[in-house]
Amino acid sequence: MRLDHFMARANALYYANHDPFADFTTAPEIAQMFGEILGAWSATVWRQMGGPSPMLWVEAGPGRGTLMTDATRALTRVAPAFLDAARLHLVETSPRLRALQARSLPHATWHAGLETLPPGPLILLANEFLDALPIRQFVRRGQGFTERHVEAGQFTEHAGSPPLPLPETVPEGAVIELNEAALAFTTALAQRIAQQGGAALLLDYGPAQSAAGESLQALHAGAPADPLVNPGAADLTAHVDFARLADAARAAGAMVRGPLPQGALLERLGLYVRAGRLAAGTSPRQALGIMQAAQRLAAPERMGSMFKAIVLHHPSLPTPPGFEA
Ligand code: SAH
Repeated sequence: MRLDHFMARANALYYANHDPFADFTTAPEIAQMFGEILGAWSATVWRQMGGPSPMLWVEAGPGRGTLMTDATRALTRVAPAFLDAARLHLVETSPRLRALQARSLPHATWHAGLETLPPGPLILLANEFLDALPIRQFVRRGQGFTERHVEAGQFTEHAGSPPLPLPETVPEGAVIELNEAALAFTTALAQRIAQQGGAALLLDYGPAQSAAGESLQALHAGAPADPLVNPGAADLTAHVDFARLADAARAAGAMVRGPLPQGALLERLGLYVRAGRLAAGTSPRQALGIMQAAQRLAAPERMGSMFKAIVLHHPSLPTPPGFEA
C-alpha cells in the first residue's frame, strides 16, 4: 500500500477510536492562553476586514474543541460584535471527536472538508492539523526516484513517478516527502480566500525551508513508536513543508506571510503580558504554572522554534497581527 494511503487509513482508525490527547499534548491543551490569543487575533483580523457579518469562523482539525472554546470565552466581554457576526464551522472527519467538540461547541456546523463550507469571507485557524494529513515518500535511486509503500510493517520501494518535480541534487538514498493532502488543502483555502476574502492562520511543526529527510513519526502514550506496525494504535504525523505550502498558496492568489516561529508570534501577540495578568490574581504556585506554560509554548528550546505559523490572507488586507516585518 502506498505510504499516504497507509497513513490516511491508520489515522482515520486512530482518530476514530482513541483519545489523541492520551498520546500527545498540543498547544491549546497546554494553556488556555493559546486559544485566547488566537481568538483576539481573529477579532482583530475581522475588524481589518471591515467587520463583515455574517462571517465564517472556521477551525480545521479542532481535536477536543479547546482552542475555540477558550477563544470564544475570551471574546465574550471584549468583542461581542465579533461573536455575533461569527458562524462557527469545524472541519473534522472523526465522528468521535465531532461528538466531543459538540459538548463545548454545540452551535458549530461540521464539515469533512472545505468544499461544503457556505460561501463568504472566512477566518480559519488550524493547529497541528496539516501534520496529520497523509504524505508520500520518494527515495533517490540512480537518476530517478522510487516510491515507498508499506507491506507487513515494513517499507518497500516501487517504481513510480513523483507527481511534482523533486530536487535532483539530493544524494542516493535520500528520502523526499511530499504532502499532497496538505498542498491540496492549502491551495483550495488560498483560492477561496483570494476569491471570497479573509485570512487563515496555520500553526504546525516543521522546518522553514524545504529539506530532504524523513519525518514520519508515531507517538503512543507520549513516546515514539514504530509508525508502520499496528496501524491505528498511534497518531502518525510528518513535518509540514511550510515553504512548499507558501508557494502553492501564493500561486493560488493569496498573500502569504511567514513562516514565523510560534514563539515569536505568540510573544508579539502578547503571550507574556497575558500570562502575567492571569498569574497576578493567583497563588504563587498557580502563577508559576502559568508562566511555565507560557514558556513551554514560546521558548525556543521548547515549542517556540520548531513550531511555526504562516498566514494566508486576501491581498486587500493589511498584514495580520503578529506578522509585521
Ligand atoms: N487542533 C487540535 C487537534 C490536533 S490533532 C489541537 O491542537 O489540539 C489533529 C486533528 O485533525 C484531529 O481533530 C483529527 O481528527 C483531525 N483530522 C485529521 N485528519 C483530518 C482530515 N483529513 N480531515 C479533517 N480533520 C482531520
